[in-house]
Amino acid sequence: MNLEHLNELKKLLSSPKKIAIIPHKNPDGDAIGSTLALWHYLVNTGHTASIVAPNDYPKFLKWMPGSDKILNFEKENSQSKSCIDNADIIFTLDFNHLGRVGQMSDILESATATFVMVDHHQEPSDYAKIIYSDVKMSSTCEMVYVLINQLGDKNSITTEMANCIYTGIMTDTGSFKFAATTSNTHRVIADLMDKGAEGTEIHHRIYDTNSPSRLHLLGCALKNMVILEEYATAYITMSQDELDTYNYQKGDTEGFVNYGLTLDGIKFAVIFIENREEGIYKISFRSVGEFSVNDFARKHFSGGGHTNAAGGKSDDNLEETITKFTSLLSLYKNQLQS
Ligand code: 5GP
Ligand code: MN
Repeated sequence: MNLEHLNELKKLLSSPKKIAIIPHKNPDGDAIGSTLALWHYLVNTGHTASIVAPNDYPKFLKWMPGSDKILNFEKENSQSKSCIDNADIIFTLDFNHLGRVGQMSDILESATATFVMVDHHQEPSDYAKIIYSDVKMSSTCEMVYVLINQLGDKNSITTEMANCIYTGIMTDTGSFKFAATTSNTHRVIADLMDKGAEGTEIHHRIYDTNSPSRLHLLGCALKNMVILEEYATAYITMSQDELDTYNYQKGDTEGFVNYGLTLDGIKFAVIFIENREEGIYKISFRSVGEFSVNDFARKHFSGGGHTNAAGGKSDDNLEETITKFTSLLSLYKNQLQS
């Protein structure tokens, strides 16, 4: 965070405040890890803080210290609303425009609190007074670590906070594999381990607690994969009926999109997942190298994200969505073949 914004934040936090912390809709490990780490920090430093998530999040994140305190806006609506209405400060973590909180965007838009954004996605919008935006960062969790250091409170990082921050860095970097993983990311991880973060245990809790039905769903996804060699692209489709057949639980399709990139020569991987309740196909895009899935998602599928990982949606049916997608690929043929 630059000095001007940092000083403003320090001043704001110099007396006890009422604070709401908000992750994006369908929060992932980085969103939950960063909001929880910040929540522990703020509560431990004398503030009254609550986390309000727009909706539920996967079971494999629910072991995280403090997660039982997270309010679900869909289920605990009036309590969530009053936290936001009464807040002096609202931290928004791991997203950078208010459309990313779904149904909660109206109430955030009318809130009178001072907004603080901490985020690593591209093209931040301007709703926040205090902004810490850095697209080079591996994760919002790494940014929360840096921010606490900048606030002069490095030694206030507890084992609980270290476990939360470790989790978000690990999940957003694909276990320290993606290009955004820097030497500094590893230094942060080393320090978190010194503070008690249990790396092996966290890996186990996130990646090795599958249900048999999730693995069967993965089998179905891999069977559905279509490989378009001439575009160096692989895509997966999952219908609501298929999700239902395999007893889909929130989070079960997490990471499926990455399998396309494990194919030799594939640079662009996509998964289209039906959500009948919302009447959409939710789409995840991944790439390796220069091809920007952020641009692709933003331009064609009402989404966005990072250069190599982005999301979006389609209101069309599957056939129309795939036709649109495959016809777009020809426009990007040169980029994808390079
Ligand atoms: P995922 O595919 O894992 O849901 O998301 C990949 C990345 O894209 C994440 O950083 C996520 O925050 C972002 N993202 C996912 N869906 C959307 C979307 O609909 N709009 C925008 N702007 N970003 C998204
Ligand atoms: Mn993130």
